Amino acid sequence: MTLSDDWFTELCTESGSAFSLKVKQKLHEEQTPYQHIAIYETEFFGTLMVIDGFIMLSDFDNFLYHEMMSHPALFTHPGPEKVVIIGGGDCGTLREVLKHSEVKQAVQVDIDERVTRLSEQFFPELCEANDDPRAELLFADGIQWVKNAAPASVDLIIVDSTDPIGPAEGLFSAAFYRDCFEALGEDGILVHQSESPLIHQPLIRNIRNAMGSAGFTQLLTINFPQPVYPSGWWSATLAGKREPLTTFRERASREKPFATRYYNHGIHLAAMATPEFWKERDRR
Ligand code: SAM
Repeated sequence: MTLSDDWFTELCTESGSAFSLKVKQKLHEEQTPYQHIAIYETEFFGTLMVIDGFIMLSDFDNFLYHEMMSHPALFTHPGPEKVVIIGGGDCGTLREVLKHSEVKQAVQVDIDERVTRLSEQFFPELCEANDDPRAELLFADGIQWVKNAAPASVDLIIVDSTDPIGPAEGLFSAAFYRDCFEALGEDGILVHQSESPLIHQPLIRNIRNAMGSAGFTQLLTINFPQPVYPSGWWSATLAGKREPLTTFRERASREKPFATRYYNHGIHLAAMATPEFWKERDRR
């Protein structure tokens, strides 16, 4: 549905709401074996990537999401050397991960190579770390990849997935989280983008319950703004095996040697604060 030909509109049926961006032109459109991908040039938000009608990212605000999917977890793990990104084909999360010098290997496993090829073409700044010798780009089903991973071989798994429909549905299941649990070492952390804290509380509850039943004893849902996603407010849920996830390498975060546009020590602390209405979710 469009307001008129020069607007892109994403409908959010759960909240009976819609978000529109004025577009200058459609730059590209294709159907891959997995999904429909469209790229637009917008008037204010820069280039926009849409998968199956849902906004994935824009030039203007993707830094919020990519930084918050990576830095809080990386500064929480005591020594993250091996990182695996499931999904994340636009490569923005990979770029942030590789800012950490402790990381020795970062493997990105996206099911759809076309997302990465189009990102290289239309979002080159997100792909600027792709040639880093520590980076490995694989095009495969992340569910299968994690199932086959050697036990305790990974420090951090970041699930930068599309919504829980189509090929991403299984990424929200207890079975997948159990495989992540096995693949992670003792200090290992799993992070999954967990949708809007305002609209999707039932989904966040399901994600947390599924992570708990997979064996993770430590859970932490962090929140951050994301204007192009429904409600403009987004979350990521972290799961760990033993140490509370509210404790992180604060000094390293405060003195980080690389540039970010949103993440810093104060933002990390603030993102962990729990709004009153979330407590209802956790009581159920
Ligand atoms: N930031 C985005 C969001 O929350 O809307 C997600 C961006 S990223 C482009 C999502 C990626 O997940 C897509 O490139 C898609 O191909 C990938 N994906 C979906 N299901 C997958 C699976 N089972 N294994 C690996 N990648 C998957």
